[in-house]
Amino acid sequence: MNLLLMGLPGAGKGTQAEKIVEKYNIPHISTGDMFRLAINEGTELGKKAKEFMDQGALVPDDVTIGIVDERLRKNDCENGFLLDGFPRTIAQAEALQSLLTNMNKAIDHVVHVDVPEEKLMERLTGRRICPTCGATYHVLFNPPKQAGVCDKDGSTLIQRDDDKAETVKNRLDVSINQTMPLLDYYQDKGNLVTVNGDQEIDKVFQDIQVAIEN
Ligand SMILES: [Zn+2]
Repeated sequence: MNLLLMGLPGAGKGTQAEKIVEKYNIPHISTGDMFRLAINEGTELGKKAKEFMDQGALVPDDVTIGIVDERLRKNDCENGFLLDGFPRTIAQAEALQSLLTNMNKAIDHVVHVDVPEEKLMERLTGRRICPTCGATYHVLFNPPKQAGVCDKDGSTLIQRDDDKAETVKNRLDVSINQTMPLLDYYQDKGNLVTVNGDQEIDKVFQDIQVAIEN
């Protein structure tokens, strides 16, 4: 089961990833983990990646793709893997396809956890924080007893700048512009499955299982 997981920020991709890797007993390969592993193991590519990251620069594609290649060749990927956060561009998607072909492998399903943008805005802008005790709330999912007031100490809750609508909207737009071409790409390849992410967590997971076991 070679899977690729896609979804916008706030779509609940991380939660579903945990469930998928547990159920199918395959490794969860996120870009961050992959870089950390290569750097800790001190591979040539890991050292190169670290140089760029230390300078705050973007790691170039050939290095990233090399690290993906090293990771997917490890024994734990024999029965499958869940790739998350890679590819980010069509060029990377094509590189991924050719490195998998070299391993006699292919992506079986690209799972897209789809949540409408307005729902993502609700999820991503709902966080509120108590400036006194640091408690966090969410206006929809974990509201305080009295709106805007901390349950513990009665302080007025605040919204962090990162969680404000304008910032969230910009972040989402960047992500949408990056994701759309990839969804089209995998749609054309015929292995994109779109799952409605605007449901209970367990229902989303159920739909994912149905989609990938078909
Ligand atoms: Zn408080």
